[in-house]
Amino acid sequence: MTQVLRSRTELRAALATLPRPVGLVPTMGWLHDGHRSLIRRARSENPTVVATIFVNPRQFSQARDFMKYPRNEARDLAICADEGVDIVWAPPTEEVYVAGFDTLVSVGAISGPLEGAARPGHFDGVATVVAILLSLVGADRAYFGLKDYQQVQVIRQMALDLALPTEVVPCQTVREPDGLAMSSRNGRLSPAGRAAATVLRRALLAAAASVRSGERDADTVRELMRHVLATEPLADPDYVSVADPETLRELGGISDGALLSMAVRVEGVRLIDNERVG
Ligand code: AMP
Repeated sequence: MTQVLRSRTELRAALATLPRPVGLVPTMGWLHDGHRSLIRRARSENPTVVATIFVNPRQFSQARDFMKYPRNEARDLAICADEGVDIVWAPPTEEVYVAGFDTLVSVGAISGPLEGAARPGHFDGVATVVAILLSLVGADRAYFGLKDYQQVQVIRQMALDLALPTEVVPCQTVREPDGLAMSSRNGRLSPAGRAAATVLRRALLAAAASVRSGERDADTVRELMRHVLATEPLADPDYVSVADPETLRELGGISDGALLSMAVRVEGVRLIDNERVG
């Protein structure tokens, strides 16, 4: 039976009765098969699974983006029950950021490039909320999707530096049949925008193929990704990147494991995706 809890007190009391290890899946709701795959992995590895549903205001730089983020709690709770989640913690903001809250968790260099550069303050908001959630749940393992590759790296660095007792478990990106990475934002696209959004995957696969056939110059590969994106009039690229998978610094020459990534606006909806080479 899935318990749906709102307060910190209820969460602590419920966890005290459940067996360890505890697997945590933090989400912002509007759940899809990507979230389901994280929950299933957690379910297969832990006797107790906690999912959180919290649209974190601190990781949005624009209030409008936060307000427009899709929400459907009844549907999310049905999905969690279907996947056998033990506890869904869906708190109001003041149960996460208690009165007088005045701490910021800011992870260093790894937060700087890519999404960090495009969305100033974003990763401070993410690291802060994830630190709170890991601590409240006392999670033994926490599951994160590699669609948000940099987010995984930021959280790993935070867990290492703060000696958090939680194992950070990265999970593969789940895609629609046409290759589009599943995202809560996809639902905001019109049918034409939805069709155009496949261009991210096409650009990444073209780039990966060129590397497989011997291309080693990162600028050439960035240019190839831009070229594919330019074939789609509805796609407005924010950045394309060929980066070191550990530091996320831009590369000159491509080595095995390099991270190809991009952020692209389609009809004003900001989509991200990535692919490792080799
Ligand atoms: P969100 O609700 O978008 O904050 O995502 C919650 C978690 O689900 C994050 O760890 C995401 O990386 C992960 N996630 C989102 N989309 C996908 C996907 N398509 N495949 C796998 N994991 C995903």
